Amino acid sequence: EPVIKIREMRKVYDLGSTQVVALAGLNIDVHKNEYLAIMGPSGSGKSTLMNMIGCLDTPSSGEYHLANEPVYEMNDDELALIRNREIGFIFQSFNLLPRTTILRNVELPLVYSGLPREVRVERARIALEKVGLAERINHQPNELSGGQRQRVAIARALVNEPSILLADEPTGNLDSKTGEEIMRLFEDLYQQGHTLLVVTHEDDIANHARRCVRLRDGVVESDEIIHEPELA
Ligand code: ADP
Ligand code: ADP
Repeated sequence: EPVIKIREMRKVYDLGSTQVVALAGLNIDVHKNEYLAIMGPSGSGKSTLMNMIGCLDTPSSGEYHLANEPVYEMNDDELALIRNREIGFIFQSFNLLPRTTILRNVELPLVYSGLPREVRVERARIALEKVGLAERINHQPNELSGGQRQRVAIARALVNEPSILLADEPTGNLDSKTGEEIMRLFEDLYQQGHTLLVVTHEDDIANHARRCVRLRDGVVESDEIIHEPELA
C-alpha cells in the first residue's frame, strides 16, 4: 500500500463571484522510501497540493489517504492529529523559535506526546545528531548560520518519526553551496529509509530526487523517474 494515495483530487476556492480551480483532478501514489520532487510554474497548484498532502486542508472532492487513513473525510481536530503524527514540515523560512535553545526547538513537537521530559530530550538529541548539530544543542537560532538553522528545522521535522518529510522550497533562503549541503543531508535521509517530498521551482534541487511530478493548471503534466540524480 502506498503511504500517499491521491485519487481525482480537486480543490476549488470560492471567491464569491467566481471560483478558482486550484487542483483539477490529481492522481498520485507515493510509496515508502520514495524521494519525490513536485515542480510546476507559479499558480499550477503546488502550494495547494502541499496543504492537502500536509493535512492542513481537505480537498473539495476526490480522495486522499495518508498511511491508510482517509484524510479527505477528517474534521479539523482529526487533521491536527494525523498531521502531527505523520508529517514533518520543512519550510523555506525555517520557522524556529527565537531566544529558545536548539534542543528545545527540536523537542517542542513532542511536548503534547505524553512522553516524559527525559525521553523527549533524548529523542531531540538523537535528531540533532542525525543532522550533524550535536555540539550546538544549547545555542539559540540567532547564533547559527542559515544552513545550520535549516538543519535544526530538519531535526524538528524528524523528531516525531513521521511517515513523510514535506519540504517547501527548503533551500530558498540559502546560498547555493549551503543549499547543496542541505540536499546532501536529504540524500542521507533518503538512504536511511525516509520518504521525502520536496516542492521546488529549481531544476537543480529537483534533480536530487528520484522522481519528479510536474503540475500544470492543477493537473499532473508529467510524472517521471529521475534515473541519474546529480550528486555534488
Ligand atoms: P503554486 O503554489 O503552484 O503557485 P497555488 O496552489 O498557490 O499554486 O495556486 C493555484 C491556484 O489557486 C492559483 O490560481 C491561485 O491564485 C489559487 N489560490 C491558491 N490559494 C488560494 C486561496 N486561498 N484563495 C483563492 N485562490 C487561491
Ligand atoms: P509559498 O510556498 O506559497 O510561498 P509558504 O512556503 O509560506 O507559501 O507556505 C506554504 C503553505 O504552508 C502555506 O499555505 C502556509 O499556510 C503553510 N505554512 C507555512 N508556514 C507554516 C507553519 N509554520 N505551520 C503550518 N503551516 C504553515
